[in-house]
Amino acid sequence: MTSPIVRFAPSPTGRIHIGNARVALFNYLFSATNHGRFILRFDDTDFARSTEEFARAIEVDLAWLGIVPHETFRQSQRVALYDAAAAKLREAGRLYPCYETPEELEKRRKMQQARGLPPVYDRAALKLTGADRERLEAEGRHPHWRFKLEPGVVEWSDLIRGPSHIDCAALSDPVLIREDGSFLYTLPSVADDIDMKITHVIRGEDHVTNTAVQLQLFAALAPQAPPPVFAHHNLLIGASGEGLSKRTGSLSLASLRDEGYEALAVAALATLTGSSDNVHAVRSLGDLARSFDLAHVSRNPARFDPDDLSTLTHRTLALLEFEDVRERLAALDVVGHKAEPLWRAARGNIWTFDDILKWRRVVDGEIDAVREDPAFLAEAAALLPEEPWDENTWAAWTGDLKTATGRKGKTLFHPLRLALTGEQSGPELAALLPLIGRAKALARLAG
Ligand code: GLU
Repeated sequence: MTSPIVRFAPSPTGRIHIGNARVALFNYLFSATNHGRFILRFDDTDFARSTEEFARAIEVDLAWLGIVPHETFRQSQRVALYDAAAAKLREAGRLYPCYETPEELEKRRKMQQARGLPPVYDRAALKLTGADRERLEAEGRHPHWRFKLEPGVVEWSDLIRGPSHIDCAALSDPVLIREDGSFLYTLPSVADDIDMKITHVIRGEDHVTNTAVQLQLFAALAPQAPPPVFAHHNLLIGASGEGLSKRTGSLSLASLRDEGYEALAVAALATLTGSSDNVHAVRSLGDLARSFDLAHVSRNPARFDPDDLSTLTHRTLALLEFEDVRERLAALDVVGHKAEPLWRAARGNIWTFDDILKWRRVVDGEIDAVREDPAFLAEAAALLPEEPWDENTWAAWTGDLKTATGRKGKTLFHPLRLALTGEQSGPELAALLPLIGRAKALARLAG
C-alpha cells in the first residue's frame, strides 16, 4: 500500500469520550502500521456550537492517549475552499436553492407518511422560476442549498463491512448550505478529503448513509481522482446496550484520566473491544499497532464495560518499564537512586499510577507499622544482618529466622510484612527490604 493519509475529524462542540477515542485510535493505528500520515481536522463550521476551548481540550486528550497529529486543520479557516466547491456544484446544476421553512417541510413529510410514501424531499424547489425566487427573497426568505443526488445505487467496498451499497432513491437531496450561508458538515468534509488527499476514511458506522452522498460529491468535485477507501466500524455501546454521546460525561477522556485510569488501558479497551482480538494490556501504542488490523473488527456492536478499566490499568502498569515512566515519576518527585528499583518492585502491586507514592512512603517515609507478635519481631530484629543489603538479604535473614524459631510459611513471613510495610500484602519483600534499609527496618520491628 502507498502511504495512507487519514483524518480524525471531531466537531469541537464538547469533550471527547472513549467512543471518539476509538475512531481516533483506529485512524492513528492504521496510519502508524502503514507508515502513513494522521491529520487532525476540526469540523467547526457550526460556529454556534464549536469553541476553541473544546478544540484545545481535544488536542490535550489526544496527546494524553499518545496521538500527536502530523498536521492540524480547522474548517473555519478554509471556507474559501468550500465556497469554490459550492460554485462548482452550482455550475454543474447540482446545487439548488430551497426556501421551505422547517414547518413547511415537516407538514409535507407528514402528508407523505399519511399516504404511505417515504419521507423524501420532493424537490419542489427545483420547479421554482427566477421570478418565484425573487418573490420569495423579497418576502425576506433566504435560501438553503440542496445537493441534487443522481438516481441509482451507490456501491463501495468497505474495508470492514465488505461490499456495501445504498439506493439514493431512498434519500432526500441533502442540505449542504444553511440559510445563514454556513456549511453543514457534508460538503466541507469532501472538499477537505480531496484537498488533503485523504486515502482512507475510517469512521463509525453511523456515517454509512453519508457515504452514499459523499461518494456522489467526490464524483462531482473530483471526477478524475479515485475517492478514498471507506471503513465503517462498529460503535462502542455500554454494558446495557446504551450508545455513548458527548454528554456521557463519565466516559470522557478527561474524567477517565482524572479517575487515574492509564491512557494505554483506555486505548486498549477502546481499540480491542468489538474485535476478534482479546482485550489485553499493552506497553505502548506501538504494541497495539503491531496487532491492529481492520479485518479483525467485528460487525456486531462493541459492548464494553468501563469497570474493565481498573484491571486493565493495573495490568498496564505492571508492563511498564522504568524508562517508560521516568518523567511521570519525577513529576511526583519520585527521583534518585531508589526510583528505579522502587518502580520495578511495586509496579505489579499498584492500581493507579499515584499508588506508587504509598510504596515510596513505605521505603522512605513514616508508616504505621503493625506489630502483632512483638517477641517474634524482637528476635527478627536481633538477627537482622549488617548492611550492605541486596536482593538476597531477605532470603538469608528469613532463613536464619526460620532456623532460630522453627516458624515457616505465613507465620514466618506475614508478621514481618505487617511490621515492615504496615500492609497486608504488597510487593516482594526481597525487593523492598534493601530499599527500606536497616535503620528503618529495625525501628519498625522493635517499635
Ligand atoms: N465531524 C464528523 C463527526 O464528528 C466527522 C465524520 C467523518 O469522519 O467524516 O462525526
